[in-house]
Amino acid sequence: MATRIKKCSFCGRRDTDVRLLVSGIDGYICDECILQAKEILKETSNSVQPANLKKLPKPKEIKEYLDQYVIGQDAAKMAMAVAVYNHYKRLNNPAADDNDVEIEKSNIVMVGSTGTGKTLLARTIAKMLLVPFAIVDATVLTEAGYVGEDVESLLVRLLQAADGNVELAERGIVFIDEIDKIARKGDNPSITRDVSGEGVQQGLLKLLEGSVVNVPPMGGRKHPEQQFIRVNTKNILFICGGAFDGIEKRIAQRLNTHVVGFDAARNVAKIDKANLMKYIAPMDLKSFGLIPEIIGRLPILTHLNPLDKTALRSILTEPKNSIVKQYVKMFEIDGVKLEFEDGVFDYVVDKAVEYGLGARGLRSLIETIMMEPMYEVPSTDAKEYVVTLEFARQKVESANMAVLKESSEDM
Ligand code: ADP
Repeated sequence: MATRIKKCSFCGRRDTDVRLLVSGIDGYICDECILQAKEILKETSNSVQPANLKKLPKPKEIKEYLDQYVIGQDAAKMAMAVAVYNHYKRLNNPAADDNDVEIEKSNIVMVGSTGTGKTLLARTIAKMLLVPFAIVDATVLTEAGYVGEDVESLLVRLLQAADGNVELAERGIVFIDEIDKIARKGDNPSITRDVSGEGVQQGLLKLLEGSVVNVPPMGGRKHPEQQFIRVNTKNILFICGGAFDGIEKRIAQRLNTHVVGFDAARNVAKIDKANLMKYIAPMDLKSFGLIPEIIGRLPILTHLNPLDKTALRSILTEPKNSIVKQYVKMFEIDGVKLEFEDGVFDYVVDKAVEYGLGARGLRSLIETIMMEPMYEVPSTDAKEYVVTLEFARQKVESANMAVLKESSEDM
């Protein structure tokens, strides 16, 4: 019986001419055609272009989504929602010619004490974005030539988020955390070299303004041989966040100096001293040490409020993946119904406030309370477990608060 010659059904080469021939039900494919097919697949999946930006989530929908995960912070949520929506609109409607109106991008800066939800907002919005998104930290940046990362490395993450597709990355959004850490240290920039301050701001300015920069695809400076990738930042939206520790004092000073004259007494009475952050203005960022050019490139300035007891109480239980819901689910997997006695949550909130642990402390406190039941309960045949106020108290009181504080700061 004559043996049938095996050939690739795509390129027609015989099995003797190729390294590998994979057989299917009704044909064969060779290794080279597999590779080629893979490339085609990659190209088509990378060309997710404006088409999927057609059905844009409206700002209200974006905010409603954020509301499921982030408590309060309405001002920042609205600013984010509008900025992201406008970003999509810009991408979909580039200026047709030189005479056409060009929608300029509006980068954002969010100011709020640590632990008030800046990163959480960024992470949450990232989940629903239709464009590549990267979170980067400004603390690692130094001026070119010094130990640390060049400003261009901010774009490496974005390139990675876009699977290396430059065109997609050029439409993405970058969240730069801890922007306050690159503030100018002193008022006089010329006394010493301020390698992590003004120089970095100048570098960052280039990115914010929109220019073509050379990005080392592997980041850092450890791979001098790597080929640079040219990325145009013109359409990349930058969202910056920072705690700007102590900025309230500057706001207070400004408010006090401004409220003189006829209406002074009335205005002073109206100032909400518990939340000075909501009066933040660009000039406060300037007095903190950001150069005016950078401030000019961050036209949307928004703030996050300090979290009061009511907000902390809500954070414990309300967000879609709140810490309490996570524990309930973990117990549920073991077939155990987890409940908390009335008063436990208020107690936890009180302790978080008392020790200045903030929202991050809520998690450490709940973890301290839950450690023992997490250890014991799976070995019992309990169908239900109730965390009593008495038990919670006992656990928190025997915990080392210093350790708790440290672990909340690390989170
Ligand atoms: P920031 O970036 O402002 O320092 P994070 O966003 O990292 O603070 O917040 C730390 C943690 O605290 C979050 O992971 C979240 O669990 C909790 N948290 C802070 N603010 C909020 C908020 N407004 N709503 C819900 N959870 C919050």
